[in-house]
Amino acid sequence: MFLPKLFTDAALTLGTLPGIGPKAAERLVFYILDQPEEEVRKLAEVLVKAKDAIRFCRRCGNFAEADLCEVCQDTSRDAGTVCVVEEIRDLAAIEKTGAFHGLYHVLHGHIDPIGRIGPAELQLDHLVERMVQGNVREVIIATNPNFNGDITAMYLAKLLGTPGIRTTRIATGIPKGSDLEFADVFTLTQALEKRTDVSG
Ligand SMILES: [Zn+2]
Repeated sequence: MFLPKLFTDAALTLGTLPGIGPKAAERLVFYILDQPEEEVRKLAEVLVKAKDAIRFCRRCGNFAEADLCEVCQDTSRDAGTVCVVEEIRDLAAIEKTGAFHGLYHVLHGHIDPIGRIGPAELQLDHLVERMVQGNVREVIIATNPNFNGDITAMYLAKLLGTPGIRTTRIATGIPKGSDLEFADVFTLTQALEKRTDVSG
């Protein structure tokens, strides 16, 4: 091997990141070693600092630096509408549209019969609690338009189907089988606006 072991270690570690293959990992290490020490230290420190300080919002499960996330802290938002998403990255995709002004609930997963992930793993008690306690008028189910997302949506519609609370699901302008996070802003905005009622 013509490169030091620490170089290989760094490349192998970066190569464990999603979307980073062995070649890209090597390129990153070459790039990083080319930077002033101060910059590299800053990069490492900001990651550790983020990992230390960021936790899940007590109410919705979004990333937060305080007890509540930025969305939940924003009193100008409509607390009567709650959008249920699978992952924080889906929340981020919807936020980017600027078309939604309610609050969220992040499931941190989906029901997966093949992978044997059931509703118990999704902390749904907390969501039901929010429905009962708060003055929620509408729950928008924004799980992904794929097999597991559909099953999760069906389960949620049944679970949350309470008189007085409208339950909707975002329209499937988003290609079947794909993820919300990859939908463009226009498609996602349309999907939100053209949501349809689902009953339990
Ligand atoms: Zn929150």
